[in-house]
Amino acid sequence: MSKAGVFAMALEQLESAAKRLKISDSTLRVLSHPERELTVSCPVVMDDGRIEVFTGHRVQHSNARGPCKGGIRFHQSVTLDEVKALAMWMTWKCAVVNIPYGGGKGGVQVDVTKLSKEEIRRLTRRYTVSIMPIIGPHKDIPAPDVGTNAETMGWIMDTVSMFQGSTVLDIVTGKSIDLGGSLGRREATGRGVMFNTLELLKRLDMQPCRTKVAVQGFGNVGSVSADLLHRQGCRILAVSDVTGAYYHPDGLPIPDMIEYCKTTRHNVLDGFSAPGVSKIDMNDIFGLDVDVFVPAALEKQITIDNVDKIKARAIIEGANGPTSPDAERVLLKKGKYVVPDILANSGGVVVSYFEWVQSIQSFFWDEEEVNKNLQNVIVRSFEAVWKVAQEEKTDLRNAAMMIAVKRVAQAVEERGIFP
Ligand code: GLU
Repeated sequence: MSKAGVFAMALEQLESAAKRLKISDSTLRVLSHPERELTVSCPVVMDDGRIEVFTGHRVQHSNARGPCKGGIRFHQSVTLDEVKALAMWMTWKCAVVNIPYGGGKGGVQVDVTKLSKEEIRRLTRRYTVSIMPIIGPHKDIPAPDVGTNAETMGWIMDTVSMFQGSTVLDIVTGKSIDLGGSLGRREATGRGVMFNTLELLKRLDMQPCRTKVAVQGFGNVGSVSADLLHRQGCRILAVSDVTGAYYHPDGLPIPDMIEYCKTTRHNVLDGFSAPGVSKIDMNDIFGLDVDVFVPAALEKQITIDNVDKIKARAIIEGANGPTSPDAERVLLKKGKYVVPDILANSGGVVVSYFEWVQSIQSFFWDEEEVNKNLQNVIVRSFEAVWKVAQEEKTDLRNAAMMIAVKRVAQAVEERGIFP
């Protein structure tokens, strides 16, 4: 599906909230532009001696409320337009859950499945050095996203540390536990999706044990969301990844599927089989008879072309930007609920914040404390968004955006425009 105009989509969401909030044109103009965009070329010596050049970006949308924060994506479809949108969404995400960060995002256009581990390591180190002038523990703190993980974060931390001459733990979050990461960070985004789902089900008078779910995407977000919802008693009827969609009318054996993925080269479901499980067309995941649909893959998955297929009453956006604005209008008209990305998948950056705090203090919390604090932040944020949606008679995205944009606009206005 085309990703053209993802930044235009982010702007449309901003303008809609700004209009309701009666934000001044001047402030809206400031918020509509990323503060800084950096594009870098990263030459990498491949294993066969050839030199390949990869294009990377780091965009800082806003540091009005604190240092920029956001992941680094390694994917073949990365563009500057996409990174700009993702950076802007990070600003709103950090603001809606009220953590003291602005928003940023990075990306490298690369198909990591075609590179060896050593090639990815060299690319990561080169990209890190290229963006080093603009990142820093109090300037801009990267984290994992699609195609990157704790190992990648460890390489970033090491690269910066080599230049610094000492170990800089707080330069990046999503590190492994051995390298100063936080317990619970790996599962945090999925855990946040689960908490958000439970909060919505409560308000719709639905019981988890009677709830049927489909999850698009089985990476870090999709697999953990499916697993934790399954543990809450939900039946996960279908999940999909790049290799196809897998369906069981009574519920999939999610823990077995997660174990299976660990045995495949790129952590995929290809070849998974179990009694009663059938492989269905990837696009059929949208039209299943479920109560909750969790898009946890990439942007613009639910569009005007497939929105009519959707039977789920609730969409919990595990991915960033999975629903196009025109498709969302159709869903809302049908009385469906969309828990927006900036709230639904905020668990990752919330625990990134906890990791950063722990790294700065060199004092580490146990997992129970991390998860409890995460739950408090999500439950409180969901409540606030729900309340604004009721009061303003608007949808959950608009409500979440109103809270977030108001906080950022206030920071921009109170600080004033330099000089
Ligand atoms: N990449 C994640 C996101 O989109 C996490 C960002 C972070 O932890 O800084 O929210």
